Amino acid sequence: VSSKTQKIIDRETRFGAANYHPLPVVIQRGSGVYVWDTDGKRYFDFLSAYSAVNQGHCHPKIIASMKQQVEILSLTSRAFHNDVLGEFEQYACELFGYEKMLPMNTGVEGGETAIKLARKWAYSVKGTPKDQAVVLFAENNFWGRTLAAVSSSTDPSCYEGFGPYMPNFKVIPYNDLQALEEACKDSRVCAFMVEPIQGEAGVFVPDDGYLAGIRKICTKNNVLWIADEIQTGLGRTGKLLACDHENVRPDIAILGKALAGGLYPVSAVLASDKLMSVFTPGTHGSTFGGNPLGARIAITSLKVLIEEGMIENAAKMGELLRKELNRLPKDKVKIVRGKGLLNAIVIDSKYDAWELCLHLRDFGLLAKPTHGDKIRFAPPLNITKEQILECCSIIQKAVNAI
Ligand code: PLP
Repeated sequence: VSSKTQKIIDRETRFGAANYHPLPVVIQRGSGVYVWDTDGKRYFDFLSAYSAVNQGHCHPKIIASMKQQVEILSLTSRAFHNDVLGEFEQYACELFGYEKMLPMNTGVEGGETAIKLARKWAYSVKGTPKDQAVVLFAENNFWGRTLAAVSSSTDPSCYEGFGPYMPNFKVIPYNDLQALEEACKDSRVCAFMVEPIQGEAGVFVPDDGYLAGIRKICTKNNVLWIADEIQTGLGRTGKLLACDHENVRPDIAILGKALAGGLYPVSAVLASDKLMSVFTPGTHGSTFGGNPLGARIAITSLKVLIEEGMIENAAKMGELLRKELNRLPKDKVKIVRGKGLLNAIVIDSKYDAWELCLHLRDFGLLAKPTHGDKIRFAPPLNITKEQILECCSIIQKAVNAI
């Protein structure tokens, strides 16, 4: 890296907490599928801020509506009504097929909200004895970094040293309907929270029928199904929601990340009227949740996804990307998997995924390894066929270089 870049990195290292290990590149500007570093070098962004910029960097329509709203009103808190929140709630409910929406800010707050909702439902509707409710999670889940989230984690680097943990969280294997069926025999179980495709774990795509199976088992056992669509939702897998691949509807859907096009933190929890009614004034909230600026940006971000055909494009470009990636030498790239534009490759243990990412960077494509041997390939959803093919030739060159 240039000395200018190194200086910027050194300052961040000197004054910032070391809770991340970024790839050595300093990004200054972004537009669509591209970002530029401080030396003016251009890269394809194959991470899309962990799927928060599905609409592409600095989408002009989203920026325009952000600018328009920020000059009028940004924040009222929920102590008063604002004239945008209801519009966002109606638009989201109609679009996703739910009756009620509860807005928060980050993804992890969406997860916390869903779990609170499920627990309150257990006590006030299902009849679970006080403080007995159990929530199920899947092995290798990732839904953020709060104490509740790390309490459900099976990754030692996420949870170790942060105890004591939240009680009554139970972990079952992912992609295992029998394990779910068995766990649901415990009548204290109120919910199963699960990602339709596990993102951070390395893009684990479950077997066909898993989501439909969850729906059936949860319904049969009076257990709420909470789908964490924070990474998989909003077009990323080639459908509006990943659950749409099996035409099933979770009791609670959590959205975040691309809900506001990467321009603002907005998350949301969707549920039925009956379920959401367990929250009454004073039982849950957030100073920034539901603010008019976030709400306006979210409406436009959703419209952009739909009106610009990004969801269908993700499905098509994903097929092309995986087809091309499957031509890479199998002794180096062992596995290619994914759905839509949420993809990963698994590198053989003889080779170093971090080194591959440095070569990718040098050839003009940014991606980040996860869990040592996996690299996620998840570009913005407006990437074109020509760009996908260009990226595949970059990937080919980088693979040849390791
Ligand atoms: N859920 C899933 C599936 C995620 O991938 C993430 C973030 O990577 C989260 C929840 C947490 O979102 P946030 O980082 O906005 O809190």
